[in-house]
Amino acid sequence: MKSFDYVQASQPADALRLIGAAPSSRFIAGGTNLVDLIKYEVENPGTLVDISQLPLTKIEKTATGIRIGALARNSDVAANKLIASQFPLLSEALLAGASPQLRNMATMGGNLLQRTRCNYFYDPSQPCNKRAPGSGCGAIGGYNRIHAILGASPQCIATNPSDMNVALSALDAVVQISGPNGNRSVPVIDFHRLPGDTPQKDSVLEPDELIVAIDLPTPKNAGKSHYLKVRDRASYAFAIISVAARLAVDGGVIREARLALGGVAHKPWRLVAVENQLIGKPATDATFQAAARQLLAGAQPHEHNAFKIKLAQSAIVRALQTVA
Ligand SMILES: Cc1cc2nc3c(=O)[nH]c(=O)nc-3n(C[C@H](O)[C@H](O)[C@H](O)COP(=O)(O)OP(=O)(O)OC[C@H]3O[C@@H](n4cnc5c(N)ncnc54)[C@H](O)[C@@H]3O)c2cc1C
Ligand code: SF4
Repeated sequence: MKSFDYVQASQPADALRLIGAAPSSRFIAGGTNLVDLIKYEVENPGTLVDISQLPLTKIEKTATGIRIGALARNSDVAANKLIASQFPLLSEALLAGASPQLRNMATMGGNLLQRTRCNYFYDPSQPCNKRAPGSGCGAIGGYNRIHAILGASPQCIATNPSDMNVALSALDAVVQISGPNGNRSVPVIDFHRLPGDTPQKDSVLEPDELIVAIDLPTPKNAGKSHYLKVRDRASYAFAIISVAARLAVDGGVIREARLALGGVAHKPWRLVAVENQLIGKPATDATFQAAARQLLAGAQPHEHNAFKIKLAQSAIVRALQTVA
């Protein structure tokens, strides 16, 4: 591990000033991902700007839904009564992730920005365009069981590992960001990127910007939801495939639908056109099978992960059946 400087911010404005002042500085929140990356020398920040003491931990009602501070801990959000009653999909997804100890440390902003679990990314002796742009991709032609089947590029086939991000995508969440040039809002669906030719960039966040909150808008129609996580062990394992599904069904007919997939792409995989086609259709297995086929259209497996296509098809149908 390379040495680095450490400073602590007490207010968001301090954090922005400190990150702008020191070259190659990084924010640290719970540290559950960043500390590992520093130990492996995947990330080598000159300065760590500790944001864990910023007053951004509130979970509060707003005129349009609920706002969650970026420094709220994953365990506190999962257990919060407002979240558990109005957005149980988020509680379910958070509780499916990591372990109780990790969830006690992990923050909402850090979870949004956690990096891929591709083994080649964590091993500096291996080529990896995400870690070292232009060095190649160890996973293409290597052991790629956990990798993407949708939206990948010849540069990178990594997946986004977060459970929370899949739920936030299905909940139409919006990321609130502060930066040197003011504030901006980005829907979660547009926050994470596909790899293209610049896989080193996971999201549209700039290095000198701070996530301050996540907004959850109240859905138009009351409905039900489910987060289904398929993994190698029953707990403490990342998703091989996951599905966040939300349906409002009235008289057996679908009135509103949200469907996001995890474990398949560089970002939560959501196609609004597929959701729109569900509206007005009967909530039956045939409808769910068709939606799953459409969501997976164009899936491109690699040598070791063709099983993911069938698994994702079954998981989507099962999640929708459970909700309906
Ligand atoms: C063994 C293990 C198992 C795990 N299993 C799962 C799992 O099953 N499912 C799952 O979803 N996750 C899992 N995780 C990942 C865990 O959820 C993340 O490590 C955690 O959410 C990251 O949050 P943090 O606050 O600790 O982030 P940090 O490690 O502090 O930061 C992560 C990144 O976010 C940036 N950052 C943090 N906050 C902000 C902010 N407010 N604004 C701008 N940038 C910010 C940091 O600069 C850094 O780049 C696991 C982790 C471990 C170690
Ligand atoms: S899949 Fe992406 S993260 Fe993994 S080795 Fe290839 S470039 Fe790196």
